[in-house]
Amino acid sequence: MPSLARLQRIVQDASAAASLDEILRILSTQVKEVMALDVCSIYLMDADSQELVLMCTQGLDPASVGRIRMPLGDGLVGLVGAREQLLNIEDAPSHPNFHYFPEAHEDEYHAFLGAPIVHYRQLVGVLVGQQRDARRFDGEDEAFMVTIAAHLAGILSHAINSGKVSNLLQSHTSSHTFVNGAIGSTGVGIGKIVVPGGSLSFRQVDELCALDKASELVSFEHAVTGVRNELEAGRAQMEETPGDVKAIFDAYRLILDGADLQNAVRSRIEGGLVAPAALKQAIEELASIFEAMEDPYFRARGEDIRNIGLRLLRFLIEPETVVTNYSEPCILVGEVVSVSDIANIPQERLAGIVCQQGSALSHTAILASALGVPAVMGVGELPLRLLKGQQAIIDGYQGRVHFRPSKALLAEFRRLQRQEQEFDRSLDKLRDLPAETIDGRRLSLLVNTGLLSDITPGLQKGAEGVGLYRTEIPFMVHETFPTEEEQYQVYRKVLGAFHPRPVTMRTLDIGGDKPLPYFPVSEANPYLGWRGIRFTLDHPEIFLGQLRAMLRASVGMDNLRILLPMVSSVGEVDSFLQLLDKAIGSLREDGLEVLKPQVGVMIEVPSTMYLLDFLAWRLDFVSIGTNDLTQYLLAVDRNNEQVASLFSRLHPSVIRALNQVMIQAREHGLEVCLCGELAADPAAVLLLVGMGVDSLSMNAYSLPRVKHVIRSVERAQVEGLLMNALRMSDEREIRDMLNRFLEKSGLGGLIRSGRS
Ligand code: PEP
Ligand code: MG
Repeated sequence: MPSLARLQRIVQDASAAASLDEILRILSTQVKEVMALDVCSIYLMDADSQELVLMCTQGLDPASVGRIRMPLGDGLVGLVGAREQLLNIEDAPSHPNFHYFPEAHEDEYHAFLGAPIVHYRQLVGVLVGQQRDARRFDGEDEAFMVTIAAHLAGILSHAINSGKVSNLLQSHTSSHTFVNGAIGSTGVGIGKIVVPGGSLSFRQVDELCALDKASELVSFEHAVTGVRNELEAGRAQMEETPGDVKAIFDAYRLILDGADLQNAVRSRIEGGLVAPAALKQAIEELASIFEAMEDPYFRARGEDIRNIGLRLLRFLIEPETVVTNYSEPCILVGEVVSVSDIANIPQERLAGIVCQQGSALSHTAILASALGVPAVMGVGELPLRLLKGQQAIIDGYQGRVHFRPSKALLAEFRRLQRQEQEFDRSLDKLRDLPAETIDGRRLSLLVNTGLLSDITPGLQKGAEGVGLYRTEIPFMVHETFPTEEEQYQVYRKVLGAFHPRPVTMRTLDIGGDKPLPYFPVSEANPYLGWRGIRFTLDHPEIFLGQLRAMLRASVGMDNLRILLPMVSSVGEVDSFLQLLDKAIGSLREDGLEVLKPQVGVMIEVPSTMYLLDFLAWRLDFVSIGTNDLTQYLLAVDRNNEQVASLFSRLHPSVIRALNQVMIQAREHGLEVCLCGELAADPAAVLLLVGMGVDSLSMNAYSLPRVKHVIRSVERAQVEGLLMNALRMSDEREIRDMLNRFLEKSGLGGLIRSGRS
């Protein structure tokens, strides 16, 4: 059996290949060699014709590539595909399924070993090994084929996906194509693709000698000016926001204009290098000095230097594609799209966000929903360099991105967009009406926020307060832990903007997928690790600073409610209450008239559901965080695209758990809010109203739609739907029932696809 090291090398070589053809060639040649085969061939599935097509062969007649096509179930290869099982045959020509293709001269080969290549339950192709002699391949050969096929499934499927888009963009004849991902935020967007930070990497830069030093220096100066303008434009966009987002731009400016970086590049150009190579060396040297430091704050500066380096490189290598002036709607596409990438674009120009990685519940997706921008997550590998500047349509309802759309498709999506806008406008009249069912069951509709820039939409859409203010967002877009005073300024604005409506501020919930750039924590299982209240209780100095800032900000307005994230035991609540008393005591000593705010916990760790008897008298309210509760109940990482299809928001266990929390909370007279993404899903809202939740908190853009649903139903109807849902064992069944109801009630336009 070939060694593990050899297997790893094949996988590494295939992953590093630049095209699908190269992957197939590397794979077939190396597998043939290590297994001492006479033939190694790869067939790929043609999704349109449902046939397996010979794409590459080492051993059969090369002329048969592309010609041999086998429907599933036909021939030995078709049998492997149909059964999705390994097939090991001693004498292929005598097998009843053997299909003779004269052009391939296959009858010379007797031993046959075929392994299906399957990615996320989809057949991608079949890997085949053949030998002249009639013999059964041994168990080790079988194991190797199965292992290599499993390793290569992801690489091949990404290459096919990416290749499909690349071929399309390079050819002038083909029609449009699309890729699918998870719905990050609903809506339709049409715009030009912008790849934030560029698709460039320093790996692409060769260390060439400069022919003309003076002109290299001039290009570097232009690049510095270009990046400086870009940073200024970005900062100006954020004029309305507090210091937190603007601080990122200031920090980048300091690095850009600091003597260290510019001198290091200039001296290398003087020494004879072209500007990109000089920049590469300078960035590497400076960043690695910071990255070697003990202090996490300084280590994180290395990342900023690399970020500035890439921005400069983009101006040096691709000046013509650098977008500094967002004059038309843009769709941001990248491996990941960060909060600062989003902040860098004027909001009225942001038409959509597409991430190669990440899932519906990543914070990028949550931010997109908060801004009312469609987002599709986890679409897999895309040819970013080719996509830049192309027009695309993002369909946030289906989780689909269309490239090179035809005129007809564009017209159709434009129509849909207009219809959406008209529908939303028609809902404006609901702004000041209560969210109550036809027969008078009243709920409060609140908004989730984290950036000051989304306060206005919340107020415009008629939110009755803030149900979840994610304080980690101002912490994440900061340079260091913000001071008590800096936090006070931000919190005061939020409380003031919504006053007299209540504002529920959640204490710092970092960890999991929300690391702080200046405080990296390395954990094998971050979601089960040092997150939320676990972190803040271990750092009372940070926690007290935050509590004092919140309490001070509320003085005179008294509309603050405090919410604790990631609570999993009663002791955590008691420790918090002691700290809260301490913070109140110290502020009163300072002469401030601080009132004790209402306190609640997030129900997002399953253990808390079973502690309500103990927690009820300690608390004023609870808020159900379905994003995490679903993740922990179903053991499905909310950010892992490999298991995204298992993250079902309407899973029967989730529905039953929510119902149980509601029953217990009612027994204790405890107020219940729900602030996870489920609150924005119209189908789910039917069940939540049926359960009797007191308030729902969501992104501002979903609020009018949710209100429309609530105002269109009667209590008995939604209670009936809940009873039925509680008897169903399958999420699809539940969603279909709810969608049928929405359709029947004239709310069909609000139906979302089942993919979360
Ligand atoms: C949740 O877990 O449902 C929630 C609202 O919090 P976050 O998404 O910020 O973890
Ligand atoms: Mg949570």
